[in-house]
Amino acid sequence: MIQITKDYIPVNKYSRAGLKLKAKRGIVMHYTASPGAPAKNISKYFASLAQQDSNKAVKGRYASAHFSVDRTSIYNSLPDDELAYHCGSATYTKEAIAKLETYPNNSTVGIEMCIEKDGSIHEDTFNNVVDLAVYLIRERGFPPVFFTHKEVVGWKECPLPWIKQPGEYERFKQAVHIKLNPLQEIAVTEDDDMNTVLNYAQWAWNELDQYIGDAYNDKVIEDWAWVEKVRKKKLTYGELLLLKVLIDERRRKKS
Ligand SMILES: [Zn+2]
Repeated sequence: MIQITKDYIPVNKYSRAGLKLKAKRGIVMHYTASPGAPAKNISKYFASLAQQDSNKAVKGRYASAHFSVDRTSIYNSLPDDELAYHCGSATYTKEAIAKLETYPNNSTVGIEMCIEKDGSIHEDTFNNVVDLAVYLIRERGFPPVFFTHKEVVGWKECPLPWIKQPGEYERFKQAVHIKLNPLQEIAVTEDDDMNTVLNYAQWAWNELDQYIGDAYNDKVIEDWAWVEKVRKKKLTYGELLLLKVLIDERRRKKS
């Protein structure tokens, strides 16, 4: 994972209340809605909210998120065990209340995804966000429970690119899952699927290709036919299991 840049905003009532989370129950995904703005600017923006004049008649703006991610950087605006104002609302969905309780900001970490000038999420940003989520789950005690901002509040179109293309949100969750459980994701529902040729998306075949390519290069497996099967997408579930046992066993012996 690329390094996380710590850029803590000062404790202030608008973007960093200085309160601890009551629990770690989920990870909430957002997008910045600012085409072309890098993660650094988003973090600076959250910090700038501290400067609002609380004596003014206008209502203050409360907002922050723990992390902002772009193609090349991850900014961390406040500790992941502190409350941020990323998914507050007058109303919450039933699912959010069931899983996150009545005030979801109290139990979630918020991630802002930066968007390109055309409004899209760059693949590098996507991958950085996957890595960050895996880190939060593996090392920071968050469960693999994801919500989009919209899934928490029900009305906000955030993150818009994933609202428009729900498949991308699914791809994200799957990518996190695979990183957490390498190859285990390759699961099927019934035993008699052992002889069924795997039916994966291209990116999953790519992952498999790399796995087997590495094994071949490291001389853990010697038969090129295995690599060929993967490249031609002819591998069955049973063969995959066998292959994994062979590779893991031989790697274990080698090390
Ligand atoms: Zn949002």
